[in-house]
Amino acid sequence: MHVVVAVTPAHPARRSLSKRRNQPATWFQLATVRLTFPLSLDGPLSTFAIDIANMTQGTRNALTCLQNAVGAAGGSLSVTSAYRPQSYQDHIRDVWDKWQAIKDRNDAACAQTKAQVQTEWNRHGLTFQPAAVSNHTSGRAFDANWSPGTLNIDQLANGCSLSRSVPGDDVHFEYTGT
Ligand SMILES: [Zn+2]
Repeated sequence: MHVVVAVTPAHPARRSLSKRRNQPATWFQLATVRLTFPLSLDGPLSTFAIDIANMTQGTRNALTCLQNAVGAAGGSLSVTSAYRPQSYQDHIRDVWDKWQAIKDRNDAACAQTKAQVQTEWNRHGLTFQPAAVSNHTSGRAFDANWSPGTLNIDQLANGCSLSRSVPGDDVHFEYTGT
């Protein structure tokens, strides 16, 4: 395994995963994952702070509107992710791909790599595969949790020019204004 990975090119993991996205993980693919750790795009934790200030003015206003609307309905809403630079978006997509490739491996050879990927996985709390190009990067989207779950969140969001427009990505709100 180690002889093979020694001759793979720089940054092989993303290339191999994107080529093989619809194929089952192989030992070779997992070996290339091991080669690239720690994640090249990883940075200090502050890089991943929730960044509301760099969302567009319209999106910030829409968020304030929604927080007020949820509050008036007796609930609360908290943002879990807002503006993301492209490097951040690339990083969390990378984490998603690597975790999918390794999460079901239980052999000893993968244990250390799996633990490293799991640390990143747990840090980012991903619930949906990050898009290659995202409205988070254009400052027009945020992710949020709210309570109670019985709120009609879509009605409140629509009243603030926001829409949960990505099927299955339940925490993702996009600004629908100009
Ligand atoms: Zn989102």
